[in-house]
Amino acid sequence: MAQQNDTFKKVIAHAKEYGFVFPSSEIYDGLSAVYDYGQNGAALKNNIRAYWWQAMTQMNQNIVGIDAAIFMHPTTWKASGHVDAFNDPLIDNKDSKKRYRADVLVEDYVGKLDVKIEKEVKKAAKRFGDSFDKAQFLDTNPRVLKYKETGDAILKRLGKSLENEDLADVKALIEELEIACPESGSKNWTDVKQFNLMFGTQLGASAESAMDLYLRPETAQGIFVNFLNVQKTGRMKLPFGIAQTGKAFRNEIVARQFIFRMREFEQMEMQFFIPPGTQQHWYEHWKETRLKWHLALGLGEDNYRFHDHEKLAHYADAASDIEFKFPFGFKELEGIHSRTDFDLGSHEKFAGKKLQYFDPEQNKSYVPYVLETSVGLDRLFLAVFSNALQEETLEDGSSRTVLKLPAPLAPTKVAVLPLVKKDGLPEVARKIIEDLKWDMTTAYDEKDAVGRRYRRQDALGTPFCVTVDHQTLEDQTVTLRSRDSMEQERVSIAELRMRLSDQVSISSLLRSL
Ligand code: ATP
Repeated sequence: MAQQNDTFKKVIAHAKEYGFVFPSSEIYDGLSAVYDYGQNGAALKNNIRAYWWQAMTQMNQNIVGIDAAIFMHPTTWKASGHVDAFNDPLIDNKDSKKRYRADVLVEDYVGKLDVKIEKEVKKAAKRFGDSFDKAQFLDTNPRVLKYKETGDAILKRLGKSLENEDLADVKALIEELEIACPESGSKNWTDVKQFNLMFGTQLGASAESAMDLYLRPETAQGIFVNFLNVQKTGRMKLPFGIAQTGKAFRNEIVARQFIFRMREFEQMEMQFFIPPGTQQHWYEHWKETRLKWHLALGLGEDNYRFHDHEKLAHYADAASDIEFKFPFGFKELEGIHSRTDFDLGSHEKFAGKKLQYFDPEQNKSYVPYVLETSVGLDRLFLAVFSNALQEETLEDGSSRTVLKLPAPLAPTKVAVLPLVKKDGLPEVARKIIEDLKWDMTTAYDEKDAVGRRYRRQDALGTPFCVTVDHQTLEDQTVTLRSRDSMEQERVSIAELRMRLSDQVSISSLLRSL
């Protein structure tokens, strides 16, 4: 646990020191759970967004993208169920006065059982050496099975109590498990209460004519209300999808863990409209497709797992999370939800307008069913960034900090470095940048010894460095250094663009899907 905290602190410090993520309005001591992306963070975020957007709208002829407004008619949130049901169960500790999400306290307790399972696996792997069969061990070891059974039973009970709005039982569960306040160790809890997460605001200048609005808590509803607009103007046939990226706002009860849980964050959502009855097929399809998309980033297969929901949201008939192993354990990265015809059906009722599709094959109109994929851009950023940050001990015993970002996502793809600041080398370096800048992001750096400049680029995640030296003047070749292998090779300037552009482009990721 202590080591996990240490790693996470390093991630946060590195993100700030190298211009990726800053606390919002820091000169005023920041604003709780709100963050700004700096020069490198904005670039990394844009690249992740581009990978998602292209994977959705460019790779699929039947998925189109829109950009709906953050403000929506207030009835939207009645129809969607958010006014009545977008609540989190909160609990206060009477001694520390700290507030927690009751469900998260219980889930963290179960998370500790997972850590115990991992420890058992490690111990056994050591004991059995090469003959160790992890899957068999997980299936048969009595201690592991006991932890798993206990965890599953707790989550099942939590799911049931939340579904039945039995908040007294959620409190009873916390007391039975003897969960203590993580800050103070006290077990003196208040009752569990529901808390609505939507931010309210007002539209209009005068008090009388002002209209109460909400900042959207999810981007999905902007897609639902535009379903017919897009279907008609795009002459879309079922099944088809509408994708969107944009800001969402939630007044989170506990917003810790850096950009994992923010009050203003960005979602990338896709609603896939399908004929009723086909949801099971598309649910499996999108679970598999989305996992593949994540795996193509190369962050390691073992860092992902599915978590199928016990407690279903009011709109869903099946739901699963793709969880990622963050520095603080496995947590939700993306949700895949079978939303039935709940949203479109409800908007039909509240708006008094038909939101139906005429199916020429079945020769009838109906409200389509919906399969949703919803991933947090900031959480993805954190997954990619924390996984990439590594301390390496080199052969000569020295160490380096390196950010091994997937090359297509790196803020800067290539840094061009003149070995010295004279003899015409800077001019050649700038000329190389002029040539490459049409196809990739570049940086120029002439300060300090070249070894230190390499280290700086390693810490920024730049996958390639090009060094211009005196030999360059004679034979038009440069040194190309790769961030990950640290290998250097001599290549001609003319070759550079061809050598690099494919490796650093988003299309190289798309091709591996
Ligand atoms: P959680 O259980 O962690 O609160 P959720 O189940 O409420 O998340 P969804 O409503 O399914 O989340 O939202 C879809 C995605 O949006 C999540 O998988 C997550 O990546 C992202 N997300 C949700 N809330 C936040 C937040 N407060 N900060 C950053 N990302 C978020």
